[in-house]
Amino acid sequence: MNHEASAALFARSLDVTPGGVNSPVRAYGSVGGTPPFAASAKGPYLTDVDGNEYVDLVSGWGPMLLGHAHPAVVAAVQDAAARGLSFGAPTPAETQLAELVVERIAPIEQVRLVSTGTEATMTALRLARGYTGRDLIVKFAGCYHGHSDGLLAAAGSGLATLALPGSAGVPEAITSQTIVVPFNDLEAVRAAFVEHPGEIAAVITEASPANMGVVPPEPGFNRALAELCSAEGALLVCDEVLTGFRTGPAGWWGEEQKSETSGGWQADLYTYGKVIGGGMPVAALGGSREIMSHLAPQGPVYQAGTLSGNPVAVAAGIATLALADADVYARVDAAAERIRTATSEALTAAGVAHSVQNVGNLFSFTFGDGAALGWTGTGGGPRDEDEVKRQEAWRYPPFFAAMLDAGVNLPPSVFEAWFVSAAHDDAAIERVLAALPAATRAAAD
Ligand code: PLP
Repeated sequence: MNHEASAALFARSLDVTPGGVNSPVRAYGSVGGTPPFAASAKGPYLTDVDGNEYVDLVSGWGPMLLGHAHPAVVAAVQDAAARGLSFGAPTPAETQLAELVVERIAPIEQVRLVSTGTEATMTALRLARGYTGRDLIVKFAGCYHGHSDGLLAAAGSGLATLALPGSAGVPEAITSQTIVVPFNDLEAVRAAFVEHPGEIAAVITEASPANMGVVPPEPGFNRALAELCSAEGALLVCDEVLTGFRTGPAGWWGEEQKSETSGGWQADLYTYGKVIGGGMPVAALGGSREIMSHLAPQGPVYQAGTLSGNPVAVAAGIATLALADADVYARVDAAAERIRTATSEALTAAGVAHSVQNVGNLFSFTFGDGAALGWTGTGGGPRDEDEVKRQEAWRYPPFFAAMLDAGVNLPPSVFEAWFVSAAHDDAAIERVLAALPAATRAAAD
């Protein structure tokens, strides 16, 4: 496979862009090699500037639920663009998108549109602090909620520790307001409340974490969190930036409500991104009218944005959600299951010990022998970030490189979920399956 044009562009970009990219993981730091520069994408395929075509299992890092350049979404964007790119005034489409969210997620009565997932979680926490009059936040090690200062807290292990900054440039004074605890560890959350009575404004969690690989919440964990927060007067912020409108029409929260062991709970605030914008910069937070009314201009918690509710971006979101019906979710789930199962079987056939974990159509692989590495998740995989980190991560780069060489674009990090779309048809899936024997052998070496 020829990557000459990408290599030349990467060299050019390195000159004028830090690390050559505008978001770190795109630089291929953990898998090595030169990132292919994208030229176009259609359905399940991405084409790079050298003309190589890949089956895309990154899907824009999640937003492309319907596949790339879905004709109805493109038409909606073109139509909106022709009517004006940005108004700085309210539009009917913003209300329509908010209504679509309210219809799908029962606990949400009001929605504020923003442009990125980072803004959504940052605003949700400011709102939680403004609403409760408290300062501290609890987050889970390995959960990613975007790059706002207070959420870039290092992931410590063990019981609740006041976090150190996970990035240069973040004052300790800010991350000291964030308590980091291990995921799936209710006792650690309880201990944080005991240690800081009346001081914790919110617990923020990924509805189901997929940023340390997929690590499902144990059955009933989210419900117990909601009960604990409610008893302690803190808010539960359910971050569905990644899972929202992807794992089902009401996100991972909605899927859990179908189960007797996991259902019967609700969060105080929900955050969305990715699919809600269909590939354009739209994100949102939502909750009860009572809590949301504390946001400006109705309430004292300030939040604003020149591009919030941008008409072109919102048009992509509305078109995407309008098409995301039961049939779409069934197709995404089925395609994901085929790829997940076949990859796991191929790894086993090649003698590569691994665990595969999924929440609906989101899945990822963790390399190594779980019994030897001490994984304690309910399905035999890792249950928190510490356990994830014990894996044989060095097996992923050769596996990744072999898949890329065979025309399959995987996430360039072992700690990311694989993203399938409704456009992944038999032909695309067969191409993934055909690449597996050589790639899994590469992982075995
Ligand atoms: N929350 C979660 C769960 C995410 O996965 C992400 C991004 O991957 C974010 C928040 C941040 O979203 P954005 O990259 O749009 O700022």
